[in-house]
Amino acid sequence: MNDQVIQITEIKKFYRVGAEVVKALQGVSLSISKGEYVAIMGPSGSGKSTLMNLIGALDTPTDGRYVLNGTDVSRLSDDALAEIRNKEIGFVFQTFNLLPRYTALENAILPLIYAGVSKQQRLERGEVVMESVGLSDRMYHRPNEMSGGQRQRVAVARALINKPSIILADEPTGNLDSKTSVDIMRLFDDIHKQGNTIILVTHEEEIARHAHRIVRLRDGLIESDIVNEQVLAL
Ligand code: ADP
Ligand code: MG
Repeated sequence: MNDQVIQITEIKKFYRVGAEVVKALQGVSLSISKGEYVAIMGPSGSGKSTLMNLIGALDTPTDGRYVLNGTDVSRLSDDALAEIRNKEIGFVFQTFNLLPRYTALENAILPLIYAGVSKQQRLERGEVVMESVGLSDRMYHRPNEMSGGQRQRVAVARALINKPSIILADEPTGNLDSKTSVDIMRLFDDIHKQGNTIILVTHEEEIARHAHRIVRLRDGLIESDIVNEQVLAL
């Protein structure tokens, strides 16, 4: 199929720690099509973040092949990886990772500066995206003047700003209370409905239930990969 955004074939990732080798991923194959909403689950240490870092082109595999939107990224240089990453991927992290001295709007449009977009266009696009995450009235606030949920909305705006092929979120509700988590998951549901491809790492069943497909890792291998019938039935 040519609508596959992600094609991962027999990927392995080993870390050398002193004399020991940690086999974080031991041969994982996974294809994800445009518009899918996938949760990656598994116990602590099962390889979720390692897989996320590979999918997000933050790291390269020890072995195996990864094709992202038609480009083989398994053996790219760091510079080439950075370029693909900026173009293809929007990241959302557990800890928001906003720059404290910048306003919400400035944080959201930062990726456009790296992409060389003009100031006028950055601001126009920024205002549209800030509105889409429900933060029109917080554009000039700094991170420490916002709640955790609002900060994560800014991070989601930043992830969307480049119209990336995939949104990658690693435990996006991990630092939020349960009510705010529900709000943020509604936001993810909305951006999925608008046609975005979302990959979400979580260890919480409640959060994973929002996804249409649930991939479970154990000891660096895929244990199961199932369609979430409950969500599809809605
Ligand atoms: P998860 O996100 O599911 O908790 P990780 O992908 O972070 O799991 O880790 C998988 C395994 O790889 C663990 O045993 C972890 O200790 C190890 N690991 C992860 N990152 C590194 C690293 N940079 N160096 C060495 N070992 C690592
Ligand atoms: Mg992790």
